[in-house]
Amino acid sequence: MVNIKINNQSVQAEQGQTILDVARSHGLDIPTLCYHKDLSPTGNCRMCVVEVKGGRFLSAACVTSVWEGMEIQTHSEKVMKDRKLTLEMMLANHPQDCITCDVSGECELQDLAYEYKAVAPSWGTKGTRYPVDSDPNPFIRVDMNRCILCRRCVEACAEIQVRDVWGVAKRGFDEVIVAGAGTSMLEARCESCGQCVAYCPTGALSNKMNYGMARAHQVKKVTTTCAYCGVGCQFDLLVKNDKVIGVQSNPDAPVNGMALCVKGRYGYDYIHHPDRVKKPRVRRYLLDGGKKNREGSPWDWVETEWETALDITAKKLMEARDNYGADSIGVLTSAKCTNEENYLMNKLARQVLGTNNIDHCARL
Ligand code: SF4
Ligand code: SF4
Repeated sequence: MVNIKINNQSVQAEQGQTILDVARSHGLDIPTLCYHKDLSPTGNCRMCVVEVKGGRFLSAACVTSVWEGMEIQTHSEKVMKDRKLTLEMMLANHPQDCITCDVSGECELQDLAYEYKAVAPSWGTKGTRYPVDSDPNPFIRVDMNRCILCRRCVEACAEIQVRDVWGVAKRGFDEVIVAGAGTSMLEARCESCGQCVAYCPTGALSNKMNYGMARAHQVKKVTTTCAYCGVGCQFDLLVKNDKVIGVQSNPDAPVNGMALCVKGRYGYDYIHHPDRVKKPRVRRYLLDGGKKNREGSPWDWVETEWETALDITAKKLMEARDNYGADSIGVLTSAKCTNEENYLMNKLARQVLGTNNIDHCARL
């Protein structure tokens, strides 16, 4: 342990802890933009700067470790002035279009500009420099005019999805985030998982499927578990007027954190699709007394009630078992079911039907 002082208060910290970690563990709010707890700290946005006694420059709290006797000021006048100037520089290189921006209300840059009373500087802004919606990726909308070069997208793609799609091109005023060596995202091996979108603190990366459909405060978030596979990822459904219009990572999801695959994040349009089957269906002939009559349309699928469909299924299974033996039946379960549902199917097969013929689609 080391003994340090933060804002004149003596505290103990673990050797190797960063100033940011120690400050946050004592309830001190140091602002960050490039830092995210899931990603390696890079110290490039300069929002977390603090004053360390004896230091020649302000130190980035996310990448500076504490040492014995360190004295830190997290909100001195010098620090606040520096953070405000940093925000103004970012705003000078950012379109002033919060009023029409999709992530307004959930934008970390916007929140900090509000907190620090930072506005675009009077000496001017660079305006729109890059094409809006510049990448043909079907799910991800790219607007590098809104990018603050925090590089969270670069890290999220490299460290979480391990695809290394994003990189930084050019230097100085012209520095820009690019896919691959300036190609499209898909050409740079993007698998459209949307991790980079989830970690982007501004509207530079957003979702195409629901772009322009709702502002953050207009949607209700409903936490749910993904229905696609048995991993059990959780996320928030974005609901507007009783319609699901999007999916958003829920950082508290116990299994997956912010990570989702392309199906979980973008495969939600089936929910309100007109072709969706919402009631059980059976062949018409099964409703007409179970006789296969080739006249008319006996093979048509017709909607029925659950009770009827389950009765027919149970009757047919019993008939097969009684006439041909339990091992004439095979049960194939699904990765789309929960563990509990698969467990119950195992019970049904072995104990009710009396067969060990049970398998799972994951082995196909
Ligand atoms: S969508 Fe996923 S794979 Fe594609 S660039 Fe973003 S993080 Fe990388
Ligand atoms: S696109 Fe978003 S996450 Fe990537 S560097 Fe720009 S602001 Fe940061």
